[in-house]
Amino acid sequence: MQYTSTRNNTVRVDSATAIARGISPDGGLYVPCEIPTITAGEFSSAAADYRDLAADILGRFLTDYKTETVKECVYSAYTDKFSGGHPAPCVKLKDNEYILELWHGPTCAFKDMALQLLPYLLTNAVTICGEDKEIIILVATSGDTGKAALEGFADVPGTKIIVFYPSDGVSRIQKLQMTTQSGANVNVCAVRGNFDDTQTGVKKIFTDDGMKSALAENGMAFSSANSINWGRLAPQIVYYISAYLDIMNTRGGEFDGKPINIVVPTGNFGNILAAYYAKLMGLPVNKLICASNANDVLTEFLRTGVYDRNRPFHTTISPSMDILISSNLERLLYHLSGCDSERVSGWMKQLSETGRYEVDEDIKAQLRELFWAGSCDDNGTQVQIKKTFDEHHYLADTHTAVALDVYEQYLAQTGDNTPAVIASTASPFKFSGSVLEALAGDCSELEEFDMIDKLSEISGQPVPAPLAGLKTREVRFDKVCSRDELADAVNSALGIK
Ligand SMILES: *Cc1c(COP(=O)(O)O)cnc(C)c1O
Repeated sequence: MQYTSTRNNTVRVDSATAIARGISPDGGLYVPCEIPTITAGEFSSAAADYRDLAADILGRFLTDYKTETVKECVYSAYTDKFSGGHPAPCVKLKDNEYILELWHGPTCAFKDMALQLLPYLLTNAVTICGEDKEIIILVATSGDTGKAALEGFADVPGTKIIVFYPSDGVSRIQKLQMTTQSGANVNVCAVRGNFDDTQTGVKKIFTDDGMKSALAENGMAFSSANSINWGRLAPQIVYYISAYLDIMNTRGGEFDGKPINIVVPTGNFGNILAAYYAKLMGLPVNKLICASNANDVLTEFLRTGVYDRNRPFHTTISPSMDILISSNLERLLYHLSGCDSERVSGWMKQLSETGRYEVDEDIKAQLRELFWAGSCDDNGTQVQIKKTFDEHHYLADTHTAVALDVYEQYLAQTGDNTPAVIASTASPFKFSGSVLEALAGDCSELEEFDMIDKLSEISGQPVPAPLAGLKTREVRFDKVCSRDELADAVNSALGIK
């Protein structure tokens, strides 16, 4: 199957090239030229094991990979890395309401679902493209992505990973998660300053010709684990299909082929876009419900067709959704416009020049048909955490609570009680401070590890092993550099003189 670019629909590359490159040279994102379909009959006979289902679904998108290769990648990613056996269990909250838990991986957030698999897809992509280089992954992180990428790439042959994080921009737990990372091919370095300083420094290295040629001389090449890579999006399609099958299994024949609603706490629009692709494949989906926090740029866009990033940026208790430019939206626009890369390029140009664009009537009509959108502020998030715990004894993290609240708004406005799958994107223990405050009031005098323990006490739930273990792990990386010293840090990590 071929892939094209959202900014030039005459481009044709295979999936390995799309994944190896990450972004198209014209600045567009890679999208499949056609969408493989699944039929109702296939649903009822689909693989019971998550890995086999993943190999089946991904195999349809990655047609230039050998079938065995896809299977090996998937088995490496999802065997023994996720606690509890099922990488993405679907838990019933109440009648017609299911929580799809995507945080049982090594870093306790949903990014593991894709970042455990990407390293294998990427190293194989490079081989398929006929190259023989060691892949050097550079990451600038504001917290969660860095750790998930480190866990994914740790000790994967043919790769090295270097993560930079802002010295005053991450929580103590996030910092410990990164600085105690094991693996012979990993490196972590703090950058004096904020996330923008870090990201600017990393971007500079990516485009520095001197650095590139130094790497080439040593048989290495830079690559990115960024969320716009198709290799990060495709693995996310699988769990929506898996959730549907799990619900079908518990509800039996009467449910066969019936539609579901899908609710997603959204930031960069990757996770909800994967649900859209599942729908395009034939999964019976009624509405895609997009939940935002106080940064409600997507809510406005899906309701009005106007995207306007010229608004205040809010720092919230659901930080992974604090985003004003949702990169993956570009892919949706490409499909809805009938593959009109000229129109998409125009909107993206307006976005970068003025921070605003408005789509045409034909797109607006489709947005209204496909999506429903709402937002929830920090206060609403904490109220929802308490309510969900009191009513169902279910502990939701701050991001998941945004989704639960917006779904409640949807029910109140539409009365549509189609069975709903709500994506749960992080373990509540990863955001212990805010979750604890919602349940027990202000506990800010406690140390972070004490908050985790207290949350466990109140909820009766065990602390996830990867977080519990952090307290006693040895710090391996304590280097701090300034924004201008990143190149030196990369060279020394790679042993380049
Ligand atoms: C990244 C992230 C999100 C947002 O997902 P997108 O694919 O960027 O929309 C939501 N919740 C958590 C916990 C995340 O880490």
